[in-house]
Amino acid sequence: MSLFIGSIDQGTTSSRFLIFDDKGGLVSYHQEEYPQHYPKPGWVEHDPNDILDSVCICVSQTIRKFEELGHSVKDIKAIGITSQRETTLVWDRLTGKALYNAIVWCDTRTHDLVHQLNKISPLGADVLKETCGLPITTYFSALKLKWMLDNVPAVKEAYDKDNLLFGTVDSWLIWNLTGGIESGLHLTDVTNASRTMFMDIKTLQWSDKTLEFFGIKRSVLPKIVSSAEIYGKIAGDYPLKGIPIAGNLGDQQAALVGQKCFKRGEAKNTYGTGCFMLFNTGHVPVITKCGLLTTVGYKFGNQETVYALEGSIAVAGAAVKWVRDNLGIINETPEINDLAVQVEDSGDVYFVTAFSGLFAPYWRDDARGCIVGITQYTKKAHIARATLEASCFQTRAIIDAMNSESGVPLASLKVDGGLSNSDICMQIQADILGIEVNRPAMRETTALGAAIAAGYAVGVWKSLDELKKINAQGHTLFVPKVSVENREARYKQWQKAVEKSLDWV
Ligand code: ADP
Repeated sequence: MSLFIGSIDQGTTSSRFLIFDDKGGLVSYHQEEYPQHYPKPGWVEHDPNDILDSVCICVSQTIRKFEELGHSVKDIKAIGITSQRETTLVWDRLTGKALYNAIVWCDTRTHDLVHQLNKISPLGADVLKETCGLPITTYFSALKLKWMLDNVPAVKEAYDKDNLLFGTVDSWLIWNLTGGIESGLHLTDVTNASRTMFMDIKTLQWSDKTLEFFGIKRSVLPKIVSSAEIYGKIAGDYPLKGIPIAGNLGDQQAALVGQKCFKRGEAKNTYGTGCFMLFNTGHVPVITKCGLLTTVGYKFGNQETVYALEGSIAVAGAAVKWVRDNLGIINETPEINDLAVQVEDSGDVYFVTAFSGLFAPYWRDDARGCIVGITQYTKKAHIARATLEASCFQTRAIIDAMNSESGVPLASLKVDGGLSNSDICMQIQADILGIEVNRPAMRETTALGAAIAAGYAVGVWKSLDELKKINAQGHTLFVPKVSVENREARYKQWQKAVEKSLDWV
């Protein structure tokens, strides 16, 4: 008899529900896009009910396909959840109603607040870095929650009456799926908690120091749990009622697990809306001075915590979407590849996609996008290629920083995410890095990571060695094809383009 694990993958632009078998094979899945709201420049919101509804549609549709294949829901042993991180939600514990739209991770409305807080200490943005591993930027949940309390009267009122619950997307989903106002569990896992700024990265507990700094009371925060344990069962009228939720990881950490980067020194890069590289640093949280974030990689039950260094890029696949929707030179995103292969290089054109500032390793929210090097000779194919190159050059900057921190240069990069489907982009990446790029056959590694955590918690898989066999066949390897001189010359040009972007405002 086969055993199955379900995985909810709640992303920035779409939600998915996937069912894996006990060999890690993908059996059935469904994906739903949901609305994005941009009320003002730099503001990005999701309706919390859209998030929940899209997940429920995905679950129902995936189950329908699963049953059509002759399988039975009673053989699904556990559910794992992975979700967009940092995105901040607040709701009323008595009514269950969301009190504001979710403020999405890439929203920059807290720009002024960030600048105000950065003046408090001579350490500036790094004032809390030793405690939580993160600099103060618009990216993390603490800033978004503080903004809601300062600007939305209904949120402040519920806070003052002790009725407010705060959470990232995982907390919102789990609270609702386990019974909401009746019996909802208010919790988050260590990986999601490590992106709020409220958690002490060493003790894995909410930190009095950061809570005091932001003026937030502890009672609004969820309980912190591990990434793999049985939290509770799905309740209420939801499909999958009675099945335990047993895995919970932020999306990038789930991809680290799904790519089986279990050893210190292994790294993965996920090219989705943004692009996120995580580098396993073992059981030690490494605090850096070079713009990398210190984060929890994963913690399975009572086992030792695995930490990671992270390099985050705000805009990756989103730039391809921008080329499609705002420039209109392609109709569908994959067409960017057909354009990019028409030219041998970008014709010395560089596109710094700093639409909402630049994340790692620069952390400059005032940087703005620029396309430089345009001549009469420049064609749309050059712009297309420069768009793909942008994520690859930023990845190079992050890997350079990671190599200088770890002292051991990375030999191979595991990749996944929507944009990693582009062969030309992955070849450019290998050329720009000068190392091999390794893409698995099954690219739903984020969802697989959450399934692995849940399956591990309920005993479907018992050891990391067993997990290594999952999704291990059919990889595509991209090896560098350009000379060192070519690589370094182009990277220098890119760095000059970044200077222009940083100097803009
Ligand atoms: P997220 O999980 O952040 O919602 P995905 O991993 O689904 O993102 O990736 C979606 C992004 O990948 C889109 O922004 C899209 O532009 C890009 N993308 C997907 N497929 C391709 C492709 N074949 N070529 C180029 N870009 C692609």
